[in-house]
Amino acid sequence: MLSKVIAQANIDHAEKWFERADKIVIVTHVSPDGDAIGSSLGLWHFLESQEKTVNVIVPNAFPDFLRWMPGAKDIIRYDKYTEFANKLLNEADVICCLDFNALSRIDAMADAVAQSPARKMMIDHHLNPEAFCKIIISHPEISSTSELVFRLICRLGYFEDITKEGAECIYTGMMTDTGGFTYNSNDREIYFIISELLSKGIDKDEIYRKVYNTYSEGRLRLMGYVLYDKMQVFPQFNSALIWLTKEEQSKFQYVKGDTEGFVNIPLSIKNIIFSVFLREDTEKNMIKVSLRSVGAFPCNKVAVEFFNGGGHLNASGGEFYGTMDEAIDLFKQALVKYEELLLVKK
Ligand code: 5GP
Ligand code: MN
Repeated sequence: MLSKVIAQANIDHAEKWFERADKIVIVTHVSPDGDAIGSSLGLWHFLESQEKTVNVIVPNAFPDFLRWMPGAKDIIRYDKYTEFANKLLNEADVICCLDFNALSRIDAMADAVAQSPARKMMIDHHLNPEAFCKIIISHPEISSTSELVFRLICRLGYFEDITKEGAECIYTGMMTDTGGFTYNSNDREIYFIISELLSKGIDKDEIYRKVYNTYSEGRLRLMGYVLYDKMQVFPQFNSALIWLTKEEQSKFQYVKGDTEGFVNIPLSIKNIIFSVFLREDTEKNMIKVSLRSVGAFPCNKVAVEFFNGGGHLNASGGEFYGTMDEAIDLFKQALVKYEELLLVKK
């Protein structure tokens, strides 16, 4: 049995909205990751089974390794089909905002969502949800939004209606937001949910292979280059930094998603508890910042304070507008400021 994480009032409220709605739009954050796509498609499959008109809209492209997901080909990209997406958002009865806590996280879509007359519901696990939704299902203690979608569907009384395809999407999100169940994954109920998803016929080993073992040759060679040449370890701060310019990415035929997971690699070095990855974005004129930590070190505080970002205790991100040298300098300032918290054993 699962404990009742989502408040009953939210379940009742969501039930009413779904019952009355015909047109539902699901939106998720910019540069969607496995949990963003997994939770969106997990909810999409469920609402489709309830004979609703449902669309998933994302701000921009998502990585190739998520393209196999059932329903992924029906996802609408806002940057490509803006007019059509605006129409859907404007005509929706309900908009479900998944895996993000602030309108700024959906970039160019923010205005269209804010201005839509639709009822808005947030399902998310980031800290400090902003008040742009009437129903706020926000649970930072839960490791993925996909898990919350599973919990919501079950509490609405529709476990039976979860299909194998829906289960695959939910599993993918749970797996990717915990690094294949290697962090934020000590809650035993996660494994009860996996067991329930397996009962739907999913092949979890195959999902792992599809997500993690289908990269390009270029990605592996880029990884080799990064680890050999572009990783700096700061043993006195138990920290590491990797950085990549646009030029370097194009040398290795970079496609979106190719650097996914790079930021975690330095954490496999003994004593390293904080890792930062600075990457010149190939779409926007900025440096994308990814931060990871182990244990109690709050990498999200560094993201907020130094890189206009936010996120979770152990996985956060931000954006930096300036040169790579300036970003590296800022990282070094953060090490000095957080020295005391960094000097702990893994
Ligand atoms: P990633 O490093 O995988 O891009 O992001 C890790 C986590 O950091 C995301 O799940 C999200 O919570 C947070 N995050 C990433 N980028 C940003 C950003 O630009 N702003 C904020 N507020 N959070 C971010
Ligand atoms: Mn997530």
